[in-house]
Amino acid sequence: PIIFLSSLNKDKDIEMGIAAGGDDYLLKPISEVVLAAKIRAMQRIIQMRQSLLVLTRKLDTANQELKRLTSLDGLTSIANRRHFDEVLVREWRRAMRQGEELSILMCDIDFFKLYNDTYGHQSGDECLRKIAQALASAMDRGGDLLARYGGEEFVAVLPGTTLSGASYVAAQMRQAVNKLALPHTGSPYGHITASFGVASGVAMPETEPQDILGAADRALYKAKNAGRNRVFQTISLDP
Ligand code: GH3
Ligand code: MG
Ligand code: MG
Repeated sequence: PIIFLSSLNKDKDIEMGIAAGGDDYLLKPISEVVLAAKIRAMQRIIQMRQSLLVLTRKLDTANQELKRLTSLDGLTSIANRRHFDEVLVREWRRAMRQGEELSILMCDIDFFKLYNDTYGHQSGDECLRKIAQALASAMDRGGDLLARYGGEEFVAVLPGTTLSGASYVAAQMRQAVNKLALPHTGSPYGHITASFGVASGVAMPETEPQDILGAADRALYKAKNAGRNRVFQTISLDP
């Protein structure tokens, strides 16, 4: 804080001093006691300003953490559906601007109800965590996003990726799940497996991200019907 000490004692002088950035304006002569008291008052203001700054920084950090947490799935710690929906719309718009291809990959664990019935819900939860990590390990591009879509369903958006590129990622994911080798006596494969549907297309004004999601879901349904533990792909939207 700035304290003016002056012998200019007109109202106008004081007004100008404060306008120029002064926090207080004292007239000469001044007693040592009054000056010391004024300085103490100013020090109190400095301290208050500093604690306000510390508090604001803490609030900023807490807000950032809160924002991060609202995007995450509580069980698997990967992105949640809400965050996925946001990213999909953003990536869809970007793909449309750049005339780029966009791929969506959907994954559903095979015979998972039976897994819960056999090994219990807690083992089911643990299995979901491991699968989320296995799926994540098969993705390496910065712009890709993996999310938990629902109970035992996962989804990934792969911007700027062709159908064959996305199918390759899905094949890697399928392998990663198989490699976990989690015993599942109820499955004909003897261990936990997952099925995948992949769709891609070029975003256009008359289409919606839901179209490509629907296509991926239909491909997933076909993978299930064909015997599970496999990847099916489809072209969603022709350029
Ligand atoms: P399919 O091979 O056709 O996919 O058979 P499925 O049994 O996996 O498919 P379905 O959709 O019939 O069952 C999904 C089951 O996933 C239902 C429920 O028991 C289980 N599930 C969903 N969410 C959770 C969860 O958060 N934790 C656990 N432990 N199980 C879940
Ligand atoms: Mg399901
Ligand atoms: Mg399932």
